[in-house]
Amino acid sequence: MTSAVAALIVAAGRGLRAGADAPKQYRRLGGMPVLCRTLAPFLAERRIDIVLVVIGVGDRPRYDDAIGQLPESAQTRLAPAVNGGETRQDSVRAGLEALAASGFAGNVLVHDAARPFVSAALIERALETGAHHAAAVPALTVTDTIKRVDPAGLIEETLPREQLVSVQTPQAFAFQPLLAAHRAAHGAGASGFTDDSAIMEWAGHRVATFAGDPMNQKLTHPGDFALAEQRIARSLVTRTGTGYDVHAFADGDHVWLGGVRIPHSRGVTAHSDGDVGLHALTDAVLGALADGDIGSHFPPSDPRWRGASSDRFLAFAAERVRQRGGRIDHLDLTIVCEGPKVGPHRDAIRAQIAEIAGLRLDQVGVKATTSERLGFTGRGEGLAALATATIRLPEPE
Ligand code: MG
Repeated sequence: MTSAVAALIVAAGRGLRAGADAPKQYRRLGGMPVLCRTLAPFLAERRIDIVLVVIGVGDRPRYDDAIGQLPESAQTRLAPAVNGGETRQDSVRAGLEALAASGFAGNVLVHDAARPFVSAALIERALETGAHHAAAVPALTVTDTIKRVDPAGLIEETLPREQLVSVQTPQAFAFQPLLAAHRAAHGAGASGFTDDSAIMEWAGHRVATFAGDPMNQKLTHPGDFALAEQRIARSLVTRTGTGYDVHAFADGDHVWLGGVRIPHSRGVTAHSDGDVGLHALTDAVLGALADGDIGSHFPPSDPRWRGASSDRFLAFAAERVRQRGGRIDHLDLTIVCEGPKVGPHRDAIRAQIAEIAGLRLDQVGVKATTSERLGFTGRGEGLAALATATIRLPEPE
């Protein structure tokens, strides 16, 4: 029998030490809110049934905005956020009480939102160790020599390093003992705990340790953000892909361009909806991935793609980028035709492409040109489109 597992992400802190006006968990790191980076590996772990975020009172708009940037499939795995309290301890207790109210029983991982570099492997170790202990925490051996100092900063003693570890999150607990420990600490007015294993120790439980991850760094000071940005930038490489597509005019009364239906005196000959813009963009993205082309993923011989809306082709390519842990930085499209006039539809096309690819509007360029009545586009025999995609992918191991 497998029991349920919840992940409780503590995101209620004000993060004042990290500078800036927004709490650190909502600041952007590599273009993405810290909270989204933190949540992603928990949402991707299938053994976790519930992911619950505890947020600061008043942070709901920030939270909704951040969560809106996760793929929809990930958003639907999140339980409704819970308001936290004055201290981290109060916030964790609020999250545990919300789980208790929902009838939850099983194991819970508690993780700080300010640790966005939590890896799938570390979560797996937490799940495995947590299954066998009431409490288990990721621990790192201490490499610095640790001293105890007096208020004036004078050293009082040197602590024996071999007995010291530093602990991180995610920490794994059996749910009921953790809830009971938190309730007891609250009832006794015991406060000042900086992590949940300390509350378990206070309640008389033994806490096990498992291997932590030195890369699982906590963002605390302003300098931490600068270093984290460098780390992310170093680990991604930029790639560019190009795409080109043509469709011939045929009888009809509209064409599709960049996902927008544009009335026209002609239609196009095509197996799908014949959207040269989306086809060129799809090939550009696939080209940047070095992952075949639109025809290899969606063979024209396959009846499933007959008359297909081309949205799905570009959405598929964009998803391939995300699956590889990358991101699209920019898409640029040039449409070549004598008609229809693209200008009046440019904003709608940009918005549609941004929507399909999951990008912001400022990441999508759309231009149009005629070919000065030269060639097949100039003679009004068809439409052509050229596209460029700039993406970033994790550096190969
Ligand atoms: Mg095509």
